[in-house]
Amino acid sequence: MTAILGAGISGLSAAYYGLNNPKITSLVIFEASNRVGGWIRSLKQPDGTIFEQGPRVIRANSLQILELVEELELSAEIIPVKYNHDAARNRYIYSNNALHCVPNSISGLFTKNTLLNRPLTYHLWKDFKARKVTKDDESVYNFMERRFGKDLPEKLIAPVFCGIYGGDIHELSAKSCMTSLFEAEQKHGSIVKGLIFNKFHEILKKKKETETKPETDTEINIKPNKPPSQLVQRAKTEVWRIWGIEGGFEQLPQKLAKNITERGINIKMQHTCEKLTFNKDYVELTVNGKSEKYSQVISSLPAKNLANLVQEQHPHLSKELCSIPTVSIAVVNLQFSENVLPISAFGVLVPPKEKIPILGVLFDSCVVPQNSKMTVLTVMMGGAWFQQYFSECSSEEQFRTVAIKYVKEILGIDEDPKAFHVSILKDCIPQYTLGHEQRLNRIRKYIAAHKIPLVLCGSSYQAVGVPDVILSAKQAVSDIN
Ligand SMILES: Cc1cc2nc3c(=O)[nH]c(=O)nc-3n(C[C@H](O)[C@H](O)[C@H](O)COP(=O)(O)OP(=O)(O)OC[C@H]3O[C@@H](n4cnc5c(N)ncnc54)[C@H](O)[C@@H]3O)c2cc1C
Repeated sequence: MTAILGAGISGLSAAYYGLNNPKITSLVIFEASNRVGGWIRSLKQPDGTIFEQGPRVIRANSLQILELVEELELSAEIIPVKYNHDAARNRYIYSNNALHCVPNSISGLFTKNTLLNRPLTYHLWKDFKARKVTKDDESVYNFMERRFGKDLPEKLIAPVFCGIYGGDIHELSAKSCMTSLFEAEQKHGSIVKGLIFNKFHEILKKKKETETKPETDTEINIKPNKPPSQLVQRAKTEVWRIWGIEGGFEQLPQKLAKNITERGINIKMQHTCEKLTFNKDYVELTVNGKSEKYSQVISSLPAKNLANLVQEQHPHLSKELCSIPTVSIAVVNLQFSENVLPISAFGVLVPPKEKIPILGVLFDSCVVPQNSKMTVLTVMMGGAWFQQYFSECSSEEQFRTVAIKYVKEILGIDEDPKAFHVSILKDCIPQYTLGHEQRLNRIRKYIAAHKIPLVLCGSSYQAVGVPDVILSAKQAVSDIN
């Protein structure tokens, strides 16, 4: 019998895909809280408006996730954001008291933009000329600065990383957070050359595949003889960039939970796993003070939480897991009674060099429009700068006041919000800091060397986006044999 720890999106996905693996005989999920979904949480306001606490949209290029959505009968609720939609095209950066649109077209690469004061091609040319330096890893800042000069990482890359990781590019690992760009330089001597080579290679590969197997799309036909997913076809034909879910993103974990429960999986809510002891033939789980025996464990917990469970028996493993840090984010949702936005876009990000206590503002009502003309925004604060601007004791009112002040200042809004919600998400985003890849290798080697029946998935290891953690769970259970 296999125990899955955690009923966030990765634990639920591990169960969903685990049902397809005949080597996994029976599954049980232990979840510490009283709900499924982990950081995915949609709060419904009395008037029906949704305030998202965590994810709200995901990338449309993850075709396997669209397949999953279709299998879960969620297709009708999907709100696509197509390539020509403002929310797909327009991303702003707030710098020097002004909003700057990030270049979003081929012609935009060649024209001078207000953010960098130069065309992007100037920086790309720098990369083309810069000499290759062989590295095992380096910080995102150092890597970008070495290839493109100082301005690009400070003004453009830093705010993007605030938006994804809430993280500081001086700390984050280039190898783990921008793997394809890092490898492009290491293999081809330049990021631009590497990306051109990869694109060319991809086109040739696709051409070869279609010539040999005319009907096959590698990502669509995951299971042989399975008809291609209609949602995937739609996403391709209509050129979706991202998508959200009408009625709230939390429906995704809820539908997953319903699906696996109906297929016989028991999700034990309010069951906190407190300790794991690996014996020769079984694993002993201490759950809510009681011990239970299982043959193996799939952990979807944040690495820090798992570290506590193995600390007694495997202090070395625990130390490695503990060294994957996390940051906390304060999320403030604001609802205005009319359209108060001066621009139509995905949102605005703020570079840390501006020394403003917010990471960015997401324009929820532009991306996933709700029932009326009102505006819904989400302000993200904290991350790697949480301690600098706030403290563990900061009150909800403080976060709300800061959020409203800067939303008004940055977007020139006069109106006060008619509704709001503040959540402080403690330790919610793992940080892949310098040496992350080597750390993961040591963790994997330790588990293999000690023959520990423990499989890892979730956001602490490979990538933090929802599609990535779902696929990490799928991979983890398919590796069990
Ligand atoms: C503010 C925010 C915004 C985001 N926005 C996006 C976005 O727009 N798009 C995107 O793709 N991604 C986004 N992400 C990332 C994405 O939400 C996460 O990577 C993903 O939800 C992580 O899922 P998980 O299942 O791996 O972990 P978690 O959600 O952390 O789930 C772990 C589960 O384990 C449970 N647990 C913990 N300890 C124990 C224990 N000892 N015993 C039993 N159960 C335990 C927890 O209660 C939890 O339910 C965002 C994240 C945050 C925080």
